[in-house]
Amino acid sequence: MIAAGDPLARDDEGYRTCAHPVGEGVCGRDCDPDPVPTDAGMRIAFTCPVHGVHSVVDPFDGWQ
Ligand SMILES: [Zn+2]
Repeated sequence: MIAAGDPLARDDEGYRTCAHPVGEGVCGRDCDPDPVPTDAGMRIAFTCPVHGVHSVVDPFDGWQ
């Protein structure tokens, strides 16, 4: 599920799994990372192919 050498791979994968409620559970689809420039700098938006943007993370958070 995690490609070797994926720069976005971390222990906690929840940020890239769609949590949109579907029936009695959640979507659970793997969201596609998408670079998004903002006023505060570059962010990575994780977009579910069905439900749209799920979460936006700072790719440099905790990488220092
Ligand atoms: Zn979804």
